[in-house]
Amino acid sequence: MREFEFISRIKTAAQKTKNPVIKSIGDDCAILPHSRTSDMLISTDSLCEGVHFSRKYFTAYEIGAHAFAVSVSDICAMGGRPLYALVNIAFPKSTPQKYIDTLYRGLADYADNYCTDIIGGDTISAPQIMVTVTVIGEVENGKALRRDRAKPGDAVFVTGTLGDSYAGLRILSKKSRSKLLGHEYLPVKKHILPQPAYMEGRVLLQSNMVNACMDLSDGIASDLARICEESGTGAEIRVDDLPISFSAQRTAEQYGESVSDYALYGGEDFVLMFTVAKKNIKKLSRYIKANSMTAFEVGRITGKKGITLVKNGRKIIETGKKAWNHF
Ligand code: ADP
Ligand code: MG
Repeated sequence: MREFEFISRIKTAAQKTKNPVIKSIGDDCAILPHSRTSDMLISTDSLCEGVHFSRKYFTAYEIGAHAFAVSVSDICAMGGRPLYALVNIAFPKSTPQKYIDTLYRGLADYADNYCTDIIGGDTISAPQIMVTVTVIGEVENGKALRRDRAKPGDAVFVTGTLGDSYAGLRILSKKSRSKLLGHEYLPVKKHILPQPAYMEGRVLLQSNMVNACMDLSDGIASDLARICEESGTGAEIRVDDLPISFSAQRTAEQYGESVSDYALYGGEDFVLMFTVAKKNIKKLSRYIKANSMTAFEVGRITGKKGITLVKNGRKIIETGKKAWNHF
């Protein structure tokens, strides 16, 4: 069963809430009522050895840092501030103590970077290393940036280049880190240590002009389908407008692959994708520039279900849910 379908089933199974909940399953974080001025955000993510990382090219420190970064990214995606984290670690009994200490230092350093306190967790032994980080944050009352607020006619923007992380993964699958060429460092670094878009999320929230927002973890094609699913809309992606770095371009050329595919389906870029009403594009663009942030317009929200890719002004493919698990 595909992830998308699985989550729809969970959503149906867990529909009844017995306690106050503002937003349950379906967004980057759950939103819970907290105080008169703020709502609480909670999200959890797991990294499993052999699935999300390999010890061949991740150091112990980087596994910890990466696990923390991908979890905190979901708080950033809603424009929130991370506050606390719970950390669950599983590792084989044979793992040296020093290795675990270093992994934990990666976690703790990244928690510091995002002003977050690790307040608990759990430790077990298992056949592979697995790290689960649950992050608790807060956001101004009623202002969380959600996936379910996109409207037909909105423009779709992303806050950074796409496909770098996947380019990094391709490089790592072909060669050792000690043999990287100049243009290969950046994508590898982005793959190993993603930088959650904390300031970007805060700026977008404070603009009061963003309709829907999420972080890009699975590639824009499938992630935009999630915004559409939640908002009851469709969308169009202009493939020629996707922002692509020189490094990702060079990497794709080197391996005879399509850099557009890296950008569309690659995932793990952890930049933000947001939608804005047409009438607010200019004003929001000025606000973004004034806050030293970048954003690239890459498509629009439509009333017709499904994701359409447009290249050279021509529709090339209707992906819809097919984009899921492309790689
Ligand atoms: P993200 O990529 O932002 O971390 P996910 O794809 O992991 O989001 O999850 C999408 C939504 O489904 C989230 O709201 C998440 O909390 C929910 N979800 C995922 N797996 C489960 C599960 N096993 N039980 C309940 N909710 C889940
Ligand atoms: Mg997310």
